[in-house]
Amino acid sequence: MRTREQYIERLGKMNRNLYCNGEKIDRLDERQQPAINVMALTFDAAWDPESKDLCTATSHLTGQTINRFNHIHQNKEDLHKKQDMTRFLCNKVGQCIQRCMGVDAANAINAVSFEAQKSPKAKTAYYDNWLKWLERFQTEDLVASCAQTDVKGERLKRPAEQADPDMYVHVVEERSDGIIVRGSKVHISEASISDEILVVPNRALKKGEEAYAVCFAVPSDYEGVKQVVHIHNTRKREHYQKGIEVGYTDSYVIFDDCFVPWERVFLCGETVHGGIAALLFALFHRHSYSGCKPAMLDYVIGLAALAAEINGIEKTPHVREMLSKLIMTGELGYAAGYTASDLAKPEVYMPGVGNVPYGPGSYIPHSIYANVGRCLTGEAVFHEQEILCNIAGGLPATFPFEKDLANPETKALLEKYLNRNPKIPVEEQIKFWLNFIDFGLSASAGSMLYGAYHGGGSPIMEQIAITSQYDIESKKDIVREIAGMKPRQGKK
Ligand SMILES: Cc1cc2nc3c(=O)[nH]c(=O)nc-3n(C[C@H](O)[C@H](O)[C@H](O)COP(=O)(O)OP(=O)(O)OC[C@H]3O[C@@H](n4cnc5c(N)ncnc54)[C@H](O)[C@@H]3O)c2cc1C
Repeated sequence: MRTREQYIERLGKMNRNLYCNGEKIDRLDERQQPAINVMALTFDAAWDPESKDLCTATSHLTGQTINRFNHIHQNKEDLHKKQDMTRFLCNKVGQCIQRCMGVDAANAINAVSFEAQKSPKAKTAYYDNWLKWLERFQTEDLVASCAQTDVKGERLKRPAEQADPDMYVHVVEERSDGIIVRGSKVHISEASISDEILVVPNRALKKGEEAYAVCFAVPSDYEGVKQVVHIHNTRKREHYQKGIEVGYTDSYVIFDDCFVPWERVFLCGETVHGGIAALLFALFHRHSYSGCKPAMLDYVIGLAALAAEINGIEKTPHVREMLSKLIMTGELGYAAGYTASDLAKPEVYMPGVGNVPYGPGSYIPHSIYANVGRCLTGEAVFHEQEILCNIAGGLPATFPFEKDLANPETKALLEKYLNRNPKIPVEEQIKFWLNFIDFGLSASAGSMLYGAYHGGGSPIMEQIAITSQYDIESKKDIVREIAGMKPRQGKK
């Protein structure tokens, strides 16, 4: 396992393929530092005696102790621990911990490459290639991001129907030594601070769409890959220091006729498995949300309760009601994820067939519960902001700038007029509101909310998964029997 220093040292040696605001930047550019701070915690936690058990696992390939973010879930307990690790680490930063995309994509490709290798038309030994990549990923303790979301062009057209065929990443040439891919994946979190990028398809695919059924891995500084990075940081502080400086990044990852050697290709042309790869990454990622969203709720509950305390309204009935709503959403999301772990099996849902064994035996969370949890908590994020806004009042919207708070001419006056609770030193109140503003009223907050709402798939995607996989007919049967109606045809 690596230390944070080793992770950062390797980033410093990578090629320059990051573009940000008109400049070409280094991985260790000052603006990337807050995001690197967050990722580095995933290394610290694996060494810390207090969190070691939660944040490490035993590799099924080598028997070595590895970071849990690089692990393939071998049983239900592994999924429980991934959920709890995610909540634990997100609680340290009050936002996304940023490393779950890699573990979720790895678990999806692990199952898909195993099944696709059995195909008589397989272009290469997908699973053998995968296991080689995975062993290095685990042994070198690499960070991977997952590039699933395509730009998608005209939303109602399928990949092969688009006027521009590059709207979905696809294979433009197959060669004896590898493939050439073209297209752009978008909103790819932490690709600018990861070692590797795992690429998976974005949707279910059908005959004629073989070129889009492609899974592969490339180093994130690879030749033929350009990243246009959006960095989300909060306003720097000079006087009122934070406990930790956090940030995050998202990239347009552009594959500009990028050559990928066969040993890094894990799927190429098998449309059924391409669709399952899309579904499985989304499923594992929605399960990760059952760790991070409850953690975000933990943070929102803390913000709401402290704002109420500072405002002296914590015992009022409307505040109690709002706090109970936040608690219910967070803990229901957690419970859904817990159940998804507990009912996990090495099985996948095949449209028209139902659940079938899939993959080499690694565990896949229960789809209904993972989707229910992600949808419930994802849809709630703007309502959570409404609750924070309600409790805080207008103060965060016009809060004085830090330099005015520190200026000897205005400091004492502002402290006098900002003080709302004699039991809490005004300096503490100021630190709290500056943090509240970072969370809810900054540019960084806006992007985070969009990520929390759409990441892992917009709510409509979960609703489609839920309604297409849920046994609604059996519910009609319950009513038919109680109402004395005839049983459905074919039902005993
Ligand atoms: C901050 C952030 C971080 C992210 N990180 C990652 C990441 O690390 N990796 C990754 O792969 N992705 C990532 N995503 C992408 C995320 O998964 C997508 O935003 C999400 O899947 C929605 O896709 P979209 O943004 O293209 O929106 P769209 O799919 O365009 O949705 C916009 C609207 O159009 C509707 N719509 C779209 N298509 C159809 C259709 N065919 N029929 C009817 N209605 C339709 C949708 O329901 C929605 O209402 C991230 C997103 C954000 C905001």
